[in-house]
Amino acid sequence: MQPASISTLARQQTFLTSSRNAASRYNTSVSETSPASPLRPALFLDRDGVLNEDQGYVHRWEDFRWIVGAREAVAAFNRAGWLVIVVTNQSGIGRGFYSEDDVQALHAKMSEDLGGIGGHIDAFYYAPHHPDAPVDAYRHPDPPDRKPNPGMILRALREWPIERAASILVGDKPSDLEAAFRSGVRAVLFQGGDLKAFLASALPEVDVS
Ligand SMILES: [Mg+2]
Repeated sequence: MQPASISTLARQQTFLTSSRNAASRYNTSVSETSPASPLRPALFLDRDGVLNEDQGYVHRWEDFRWIVGAREAVAAFNRAGWLVIVVTNQSGIGRGFYSEDDVQALHAKMSEDLGGIGGHIDAFYYAPHHPDAPVDAYRHPDPPDRKPNPGMILRALREWPIERAASILVGDKPSDLEAAFRSGVRAVLFQGGDLKAFLASALPEVDVS
């Protein structure tokens, strides 16, 4: 993975600014949403470092620790009518550290736990490939789904009724933001703390109470 160049980051900044304006326009019209307009905004979330503490290749429920406010943030965006979609690089699969079944089992546990507070994640997308994967099936020189490539986000945009201009991605690395930028989705960098409080600040137009 190449680090994001300065020019890329500058473009992202420009994009974020213009997208924020687009979001304002969208939210102005939310109260006027008609049945003929079924598109919904999506909250795209990186997983490790955003929803759970990134301890490196987390794949067991017993090692999983929610970020403070993460569950509550998901439930709040559910209530606000947003789709909540996880997009996560999981090269640990390609590297042979754990299996797709392990990842799916962990996501099922996350969903079960979220259900306890009335929250849910609409979809999990994970990217198992890596250029150096020892597992043949997961080796790819430039995996299209692996962030900073936009494959997972573009697929979600095709598979769900998403209003792209109103959507946002939350990531903890420049590669997350670049994948969003390349998908035409605005993005914000989360650097730790309380995720719900962070989103309340980043998206004051959304009621996350
Ligand atoms: Mg992360």
